[in-house]
Amino acid sequence: MQVRLIPPRAVLLCALCVLFSPQLLRAHETRGLQSTVDELRTRLGIPEEIDVAIVPANPLMLSVEAQHGRKGPFLLTVDESFLSLLTNEEMTAALAHELGHVWIYTHHPYLQTERLANSIAMRVVSRKSLVPVYHKVWERLGTKGNLADFLGDN
Ligand SMILES: [Zn+2]
Repeated sequence: MQVRLIPPRAVLLCALCVLFSPQLLRAHETRGLQSTVDELRTRLGIPEEIDVAIVPANPLMLSVEAQHGRKGPFLLTVDESFLSLLTNEEMTAALAHELGHVWIYTHHPYLQTERLANSIAMRVVSRKSLVPVYHKVWERLGTKGNLADFLGDN
């Protein structure tokens, strides 16, 4: 049996690999998004629990779904590569938009529209911060919409 000594530099590199492994990075990012969601949820007066998950692919970029009806909990999923395109401010705006959908669903479920979700979101984030989110979504989807339809006029 042969025992090989591992040089100290290799151990350090190995430790860095563990530190920055995709799983750990994703867990760290998920915690960050979760705390933003929890803060926004409080500010919007949404008592229902909303869990955040970063997923390898979400065709909608971000989406939220009820797990067991209107009482929640809700699951908010974020497309991993889209997440990397957004600044912190833009991600907060995008999360506020999703929480807008939860607010509508728990208060007036038949009034679900993108415009109303944004009206709710704009109680806690600026219109200005939502604008680049739309541009980035449209760029990803290869479509183009009218901002006023989604966000109202200035
Ligand atoms: Zn929406």
